[in-house]
Amino acid sequence: MPQNGEINEQFGVYRSLCCGIEITMPQGSTFPDCPNHRKLSTVWKAGTSGPLWKAGELPIAKTDKPAA
Ligand SMILES: [Zn+2]
Repeated sequence: MPQNGEINEQFGVYRSLCCGIEITMPQGSTFPDCPNHRKLSTVWKAGTSGPLWKAGELPIAKTDKPAA
């Protein structure tokens, strides 16, 4: 599972294991510290307590560039 400081490789909602804080992480963004535990390693678990998206239903799942 990714930790703070790592680059997110897959868009999605991630939840901190320590506090259950949920964040939406665009691909290529850096996982932040948990706001409650800035000096500790924060592990982010993919997924959310809410409904999960299926592959192919993600808002920005496609990387294809639109036709010019
Ligand atoms: Zn925390």
